[in-house]
Amino acid sequence: MVAQRLDGKACAAVVEEELLDRIKACKVNGVVPHLAVVIVGDDPASHVYVNSKVRACERLGILSTHIELPSDASEQQVRETIQSLNAKSDLHGILVQSPLPKHMDEEALTDLIEPSKDVDGFHPQNLGRLVQGRMDGMLPCTPSGVMRLLSWAGIETKGKSAVVLGRSRIVGMPQSLLLGAKGVDATVTVAHSRTKDTQSLCKDADIIIAAVGRAEMVRPDWVKEGAVVVDVGINRVDDESRERGWRLAGDVHPDVAQKASWLSPVPGGVGPMTIAMLMENTVRAAEQTQRA
Ligand code: NDP
Repeated sequence: MVAQRLDGKACAAVVEEELLDRIKACKVNGVVPHLAVVIVGDDPASHVYVNSKVRACERLGILSTHIELPSDASEQQVRETIQSLNAKSDLHGILVQSPLPKHMDEEALTDLIEPSKDVDGFHPQNLGRLVQGRMDGMLPCTPSGVMRLLSWAGIETKGKSAVVLGRSRIVGMPQSLLLGAKGVDATVTVAHSRTKDTQSLCKDADIIIAAVGRAEMVRPDWVKEGAVVVDVGINRVDDESRERGWRLAGDVHPDVAQKASWLSPVPGGVGPMTIAMLMENTVRAAEQTQRA
């Protein structure tokens, strides 16, 4: 079997196309969706991610404000930045790019973002709604992007066994909640660094979502013939054959394509979906201000 490509670029283009009409409707009502992205420090990967988010805003006609603070900024400076963004009524989404410098308490800063502007979906109020099975809060972008990708490809989840590799606050844990939610109805196992025999768990799964951050950990002999495999991982690995000396690798070995029925590529799989869902959350936040 050769896996079909779970093409995040193509799916994200459909999501963006649908957003254009909603953005137009906001503008007719005098509201221009507006996202603020706060980045602290000079982590090169973070700057690449932020630039992609800003470019997506430009493509769609969403206003973006890009705030850069130096790596030696104080937590209080970030706190004040968030508070001033919370107070702006013409601004609908606030994103603080992770990771923050080590001297800052990332969770405490996320908690400060007004939940209705928390387009990353990491605020306890939004995550709490998800735990309650309520889908009316802001959903975290990467896991909701995975769900959209599965549904776009027509992949059945009802009654399927799913293994989520990773239990982080931003990917693994919300992913498992979304897969197990009523209406989606997968039976979910969450594996983490202390899980015993992760390989056998994966081998029994109809759906594997890998969000670990370990290059090519999921190998063909971990995967059942015909399983659906979604690769969230983004890892930089040394590669002398490339001019830049490295390449991007997912958490899934490319040879898994010989076993799986569907496999998402890295890059071009979950990455574009994360950005598309961020755009959708921003538009949704702007729409909600009109209903308020
Ligand atoms: P974290 O480091 O926060 O979490 C990693 C998770 O993997 C932890 O729960 C950890 O377990 C678990 N883990 C570690 N080793 C193993 C193992 N051997 N077997 C099973 N589980 C293991 O990472 P994130 O969740 O933030 O990100 C995961 C990956 O996804 C990264 O590569 C990241 O770059 C990528 N990513 C991609 C995005 C995209 O848009 N495509 C967006 C966000 C992230 P424990 O809890 O026990 O430590």
